[in-house]
Amino acid sequence: MPQASTSHNVAFFRGQFVPENEACITVKTHAFLYGTSLFEGIRAYWVPEQQALSIFRGPEHFERLGSNANIFSMHLSYTVDELMAITTELLQRNAPTTDTYVRPTLFKDAEVIGPKLVGIPDSVSITSSPLGAYVDIDKGLSVCVSSWRRLSDNAIPPRAKAGGAYMNTALIKSEALNNGYDDAIVLTEDGNVSEGSAMNLFLVRNGKLITPAITENILEGITRATIITLAQQELGLEVEERKVNRTELYTADELFFCGTGAQVAPVTSVDKRPVGSGAIGSLSARLQSLYFDVVKNQVPRYQAWCHMVPITVPVV
Ligand code: PMP
Repeated sequence: MPQASTSHNVAFFRGQFVPENEACITVKTHAFLYGTSLFEGIRAYWVPEQQALSIFRGPEHFERLGSNANIFSMHLSYTVDELMAITTELLQRNAPTTDTYVRPTLFKDAEVIGPKLVGIPDSVSITSSPLGAYVDIDKGLSVCVSSWRRLSDNAIPPRAKAGGAYMNTALIKSEALNNGYDDAIVLTEDGNVSEGSAMNLFLVRNGKLITPAITENILEGITRATIITLAQQELGLEVEERKVNRTELYTADELFFCGTGAQVAPVTSVDKRPVGSGAIGSLSARLQSLYFDVVKNQVPRYQAWCHMVPITVPVV
């Protein structure tokens, strides 16, 4: 019986595939010194009946990386098609047979002192690692409103996944964990709801979905866009993208996080107040189940979102 390989020992780094332990920057590299990197997180779901990985909405992630690079005067020197081909080859070389996380990074790659973005070359790395649930998606999360504020567009633009910006995320998540919560919701400087620590969020109120608008210092999440499409097209729900007040969190019927890592994760309490009945809501549960069918290439209407990578299991 062929054995599944779950090793992840090849990385794409500075234009070639190398053993992962050779994909190294130094402690003097600009990206390490100043957090000058942009990254993406992409999931590739293992679909056993097809012996293939389903890269979910990979092109959208690479498009986001390329357009956000422009904010930081960085340049992605590969096309989306090239990045998809590289990711496909990376997965085929590593041949995981489990749900996998793909991490592309565009980074300032020179040993230069001085925080600036111009005149420093950019490099790309792409790695893959096994990844199960990032937050519990079954139990209903207990979250708080963070005492930290979300970064703002004219400080470190949160619509880009900038490495250094994740110090903000780390403060938000760590405070929540230290205080016994699973995660946190963060507000904008002017006190409206932005998003979760590393995920977007939706409220359900009177059968309608509500989510903070893209001008609320959120990452313009690909899962958020997916949920909007599924809610409208499959469940016929109305979706409002707008400013959300903090107290709407306490009066919602349902609440859930969504993101590549978080997937669809229902939240059942905020600041010790139950959300709705305090149990996982029915629309959250339906959207979660639909989401997993879609990402695993089970729904014909959305198969274009899944780039299937057949995995040949090495015979040992
Ligand atoms: N917000 C933040 C801050 C995140 O880090 C993430 C994870 N990438 C998300 C939202 C969700 O975005 P996506 O659905 O594109 O993964």
